Amino acid sequence: MKVKVGNNVYDGEIEPVMVILSSGEREQIANMAPEATKYCMYPATEDWIKDDYAKIKAWMQDGEEEGEVIYEKYEHHGAMVWVRTDLKGLHRQHCLCFAPCAKFKPGQDDNCLLAQENYEMCVRHNMTLPVWECPEFIAAMSQ
Ligand code: SF4
Repeated sequence: MKVKVGNNVYDGEIEPVMVILSSGEREQIANMAPEATKYCMYPATEDWIKDDYAKIKAWMQDGEEEGEVIYEKYEHHGAMVWVRTDLKGLHRQHCLCFAPCAKFKPGQDDNCLLAQENYEMCVRHNMTLPVWECPEFIAAMSQ
């Protein structure tokens, strides 16, 4: 089970999540259409319900609507970290080091100093920092 709060999605397989239901809400869920998988509560303000509930309907699309950004928390190398759901696990596809760069030799003594520093900072702070631009890049194919 996942719970979406604002623009963050919490996955019960990663960390405990709970919804606390009133008896009326339990009854509403029991009467949901068999194919329905989402149950939502939102403030009954004009902002959410105008234009035939357009804003809350879009929010419930759970990132399926173009342009909506969803974030989630998951365990990565032993630490709980936040990530954009649509970019989770994709850092190597966007990192110049993994292009590959001829200087990128992870785990070796002659690894690129810039890449090594980047790696050590990632380990120190539980971050993932793909190299987007680099003045030292050499495409491995050009060697
Ligand atoms: S030179 Fe730049 S792109 Fe190449 S391995 Fe080092 S940091 Fe990565």
